[in-house]
Amino acid sequence: MRLYEFEAKKLFSQYKIPVTMGEVVETKEQAKAYAEKVNGPLVLKAQILSGGRGKAGGVKFADSPLEAEKKAEELLTLTIKGFPVEKILMCEKLEIEKEFYLGITLDRVNYKIVVLACPEGGVEIEEIARKNPEKIKRISLDVDQKFYPFRGMTLARWLGVGGESVKIVGNIAVSLFNLFKQYDAKLVEINPLFLTKEGKYVAGDARMSLDDDALFRHPELVQMGIEKRHEEGEMTEREKLAREWEIPYLDLDGDIGMFPGGAGFGIMGNDFIHHFGGKPANFMDSGGGPTPERLARMLILLDENPKVKAIFGARFGGISRCDDFARGVVMFLKEHGLSKPMVLRMTGNMWQEGVRIFQESKKEHPDIFKNIEIHGIETPIEKIAKRAVELAKKV
Ligand code: GDP
Ligand code: MN
Repeated sequence: MRLYEFEAKKLFSQYKIPVTMGEVVETKEQAKAYAEKVNGPLVLKAQILSGGRGKAGGVKFADSPLEAEKKAEELLTLTIKGFPVEKILMCEKLEIEKEFYLGITLDRVNYKIVVLACPEGGVEIEEIARKNPEKIKRISLDVDQKFYPFRGMTLARWLGVGGESVKIVGNIAVSLFNLFKQYDAKLVEINPLFLTKEGKYVAGDARMSLDDDALFRHPELVQMGIEKRHEEGEMTEREKLAREWEIPYLDLDGDIGMFPGGAGFGIMGNDFIHHFGGKPANFMDSGGGPTPERLARMLILLDENPKVKAIFGARFGGISRCDDFARGVVMFLKEHGLSKPMVLRMTGNMWQEGVRIFQESKKEHPDIFKNIEIHGIETPIEKIAKRAVELAKKV
């Protein structure tokens, strides 16, 4: 779950990281009123769950209350990266000497926490990582390791910070690390970390992303007004529909629709399809013993996806029975049909009966079942996966 800048800055403040933080406003009148109170140059920042606002026109400056009102009005009509702007964070405008980057994230490949720093902040770090990777310092830590002040200070010196400020910037890095650990974050980022003309270090922006599965460990966030939110911006329409139907589902970028008999198969099937040179269009979990209605919905998610060229189905009957599964699928096929070819294998509990139900229906309705291939335990799963890849290539 991503946090808004103003939410992340609240947490930063608790960890004694200096931030620019004025007031969050939702109307131009509030913006004007706040500007009158401050009586000085201001920054108005659109609060959306995405970075890169500066470039997209989401960060504006104002020197007077009237200008602040006008800029707020402009911002509130914008939609940036799919997010309509509803809140604006107003901060006093600082005189900037230099901008740095500090971030902490997870290295999922090596199971490490990585502290990242760069003497060139403000711009997108991904761009620097691509063009000038040597400008970014990376410190990898085991998940149970601490980030000690001396390492923070070493990092500050590497950034080119000198004198008394070494300790200050070092402490900011340590605090950021502690914040990352405390809130089970996936990412915390200060970009830019300002050095002001007065020689102060201040977080000009704050990005934070938390692990949804660990949110229950942080009831204090709700007390701060940070409620668990759905990240609509990140979900496709199909994923939203699947969530409404309570089907664990993810869109992937391939063309083979995965119709699994459990999460285990979903993962294994993904590997099989890749092994034979294909690409899955989705990940899906049927849940134990899906009802005919649930099976129908799973098939709709696949059949109505224009990217899907063929469907790869495999059912392992454990407690749930293959004959029940077969009846559910057959019912859907008779009522709705299927516009994509499907290859389907059943093994486990009552698989023979499942195969028989399909074969009989196929005899009765050859037209409906003509693009549906049914297999039992005699056909190895590799062959089914290979066949699905072939079918997708044919279309
Ligand atoms: P982002 O584009 O979404 O990352 O938004 P940021 O909050 O990082 O702001 C983008 C840029 O606006 C910063 O890199 C600064 O160059 C500029 N900016 C933001 N706040 C101030 C400020 O108080 N003073 C000055 N001079 N520039 C600022
Ligand atoms: Mn930024």
